Amino acid sequence: MDKEHKPKPRLPCHECDKTFARKWELQVHVKTVHLGIKDQQCPQCDYRSADKGRVQKHLRQVHWKVRDYHCDQCDYKGSSVSALKNHVKAIHLKLREYKCQYCDHTAVQKGQIVSHMRTVHLNIKPYHVIYLKSQIC
Ligand SMILES: [Zn+2]
Ligand SMILES: [Zn+2]
Ligand SMILES: [Zn+2]
Ligand SMILES: [Zn+2]
Repeated sequence: MDKEHKPKPRLPCHECDKTFARKWELQVHVKTVHLGIKDQQCPQCDYRSADKGRVQKHLRQVHWKVRDYHCDQCDYKGSSVSALKNHVKAIHLKLREYKCQYCDHTAVQKGQIVSHMRTVHLNIKPYHVIYLKSQIC
């Protein structure tokens, strides 16, 4: 005699009074709720971690190729390793790699020194400067 009219027998949790339609749902429930094990699986590979944040980080780094390069000395975040290196050199190590060959001016990036030389020593001014000057004269 079938007193219940449920089409499928539900699987009861032994730790609480929840029931589940599928075995894996019960297993996940027991693991996460009662055992405190959070198996977070990467949706794109076999990577697993107890911590959802780590799976997110793994996804970003491995599959989305998104990398945040955090400076370990401040809050700076760079989009590439060279950006972070430049930041650390310039801000924390106070290193300036490129030196002007005409004066003591130094810069972290080559482009900065090139524009310095053009504007200061070679007198190649940006157009708006020339324009302003000719207005004054
Ligand atoms: Zn339970
Ligand atoms: Zn993965
Ligand atoms: Zn920094
Ligand atoms: Zn110079």
